Amino acid sequence: MNQCAEKLLAWYDHHHRPLPWRQEINIYHTWVCEVMSQQTTLAVVVPKFSEFVKHLPTVYDLATCDEEKLRQLWSGLGYYARARNLNKGAKFIVEQLDGYFPQSYCEWLKIPGCGPYTASVIASICFNEKVACVDGNVVRVVSRLLALSKDVWSSSGQSAIQTHVAQMIPEERPGDFNQAMMELGATVCHKSKPLCLLCPVQQQCLAFAQNCIESCPPRKPRRDAVDVELFALLVWRKATDTLAIANRTKGFLSNTVGFPLIAAIEVSEAKKVLQSLQDLQLFELPSRFSHSITHHRISGKILLAQEVENPSITTESVPWRKLSLPQSFYWVSRSLIASKLSTALDNKVFKLFQNYQDKAS
Ligand code: SF4
Repeated sequence: MNQCAEKLLAWYDHHHRPLPWRQEINIYHTWVCEVMSQQTTLAVVVPKFSEFVKHLPTVYDLATCDEEKLRQLWSGLGYYARARNLNKGAKFIVEQLDGYFPQSYCEWLKIPGCGPYTASVIASICFNEKVACVDGNVVRVVSRLLALSKDVWSSSGQSAIQTHVAQMIPEERPGDFNQAMMELGATVCHKSKPLCLLCPVQQQCLAFAQNCIESCPPRKPRRDAVDVELFALLVWRKATDTLAIANRTKGFLSNTVGFPLIAAIEVSEAKKVLQSLQDLQLFELPSRFSHSITHHRISGKILLAQEVENPSITTESVPWRKLSLPQSFYWVSRSLIASKLSTALDNKVFKLFQNYQDKAS
């Protein structure tokens, strides 16, 4: 075993965090925790993971879980598309593979929604397969070990890192080695102020020796942020204190649940449609909301369509089709709405609406 791997494994044996999915090797748990951890911090993932596997203890439970329950179990983790992918993958395993988990990296790649990274984590941890797991933490550690201050983020740079990690993986304990690399990046080799004095591979680290840690890896080239102007439509049935929310099936924030969103450019058309309805009063709330998602900088206002005091028709007749909005909307009482919304943007919108109501009352 190479010296670097040996030192890393010895360090990992004593210092790894006792996470719930590390207590014993379990393919289902490894898969779920890996998908949960992809864009969410461990502090959020740990309690959610325990709750998730308590309610859905097997791949069969996940495959047959209804959307409502899945949303509840996933709420707070964000990026709900990941839960959908897990559910799709579980269905595939149950329906096409009789509930047997794939046993190798290549076979895991055939599971819907499972990419090379997830496949590599599962294959190395659960089947001791010698495949490299390269996440952001590992890129940082390798860049520093090799003092790479250029060309790390291009596809050729990424495959060079992948190759380097693959060469470092020992025959014994490939899964532990991959976890040790990720753990080192997460707990010692921090982005800023790495704890080099505690690092097990300090002697092997070229960036430390050459005093160039700050520039390894180089900054990720940023994509220019795109400004998006939106209106969130809140249709409020005053008598029952319910609001309309939608499964946004297409457009911005597709595959999430929240308030119908209207592009600023289409808002005058939408207003005309809503104003033509006798039973709804239309207001544009004065406050704005803002939110950033990946490279989108969103700014918006709330368009409140409020039921008049004594409506003669029900607001069921809101002409969603004319508004070019998703058809699958439904009414939710205000007391339950926070548990239904699946994005931080919708929560901000709802808070703004509540503030407005508090001031108005
Ligand atoms: S010596 Fe410092 S920079 Fe190098 S791998 Fe260890 S923690 Fe990271």
